[in-house]
Amino acid sequence: MARRRLSHQQKKRIRAAQQAHSSSDDFDRGLVVSHQGGRILVELDTSDTLDCKIKSNLGTIVCGDRVTIETTAQGEHRVIGVLPRDNLLRRVDGFGQVRAVAANITQLLVCLSISPEPNLYLLDQYLLSAEQQSIDACILLNKIDLADDSTDPFGLRRIYQPLGYPMLETSVKSGAGLEDFNQMLAGQVSVLSGVSGVGKSSLTSWLLPQEPIKIAEISTATEEGRHTTRASRLYHLPHGGDLIDTPGVRGFSPFIDTSIPLARGFREIRDLAEHCRFHNCLHHNEPRCAVIEAVAAGNVCETRYRNYLKMLEQTG
Ligand code: GDP
Ligand code: ZN
Repeated sequence: MARRRLSHQQKKRIRAAQQAHSSSDDFDRGLVVSHQGGRILVELDTSDTLDCKIKSNLGTIVCGDRVTIETTAQGEHRVIGVLPRDNLLRRVDGFGQVRAVAANITQLLVCLSISPEPNLYLLDQYLLSAEQQSIDACILLNKIDLADDSTDPFGLRRIYQPLGYPMLETSVKSGAGLEDFNQMLAGQVSVLSGVSGVGKSSLTSWLLPQEPIKIAEISTATEEGRHTTRASRLYHLPHGGDLIDTPGVRGFSPFIDTSIPLARGFREIRDLAEHCRFHNCLHHNEPRCAVIEAVAAGNVCETRYRNYLKMLEQTG
């Protein structure tokens, strides 16, 4: 077939379209490593970081997000898209609002300590929340130097190891367990959470000796007046792995999704549920419930089961 001759105008249009296409290939991709207010820092594959604005109506962006960036003719960088996430860690803020805190994390480290003593109900809430959000959880028991008997304080290993939760005892004071802590973090994207006073800042400072952990206490003027905010950060750890530290995440209240049956977030209950007489068994007081039978036989930890019932009652 003879080629049709293109008019000058048509050639011009095609050239323009090709240029537009090649510039769309020029979009950079990167990882959100810092976020505060409307500004974010994005790290490119080249390790360069770009200070970016965010295109309006893009929705939530958090540390750990992978994004696409365009650079305007004026040399300004703008995040224009968020790539699909593996997961999004959410928490409940002081006003009961659900907030996104970090994306694409591979493990949630729930930090407990010898003193203050662990609250196992809160621990089970963290573990449930992680299960619901498809995030692996590990349990860290810090301040092991304060334990009278360090074989298995509070019976945590006995309860949680058979369920498949990795456990580690550490002490920032004596150095116990810290090398294992490094190994636990290597190759992972982690978030360290837990109640105030268990040693999260101390552990974070130990991991990042070069960083002033009370980072970026920046006062910003807002409509409500002046208030202090801290940036969310993703740190590359010297011994491998990344740690996302955000103002809200360290002591966060776990987000529990009530649209998902609670039992699915309790590994041992989920595994037994298929043996219950009723497929929609709540494992509360139903006849021929495999979970109730397993608790009675001592095959399911009673504290875990009681915490399950308490959550069932509270989420009603
Ligand atoms: P955060 O509120 O969880 O960030 O806890 P901090 O890191 O601020 O620590 C709270 C207190 O516990 C501080 O006084 C720390 O010095 C102390 N602390 C932290 N880690 C340890 C530890 O492993 N052993 C002991 N004995 N004290 C610790
Ligand atoms: Zn049941």
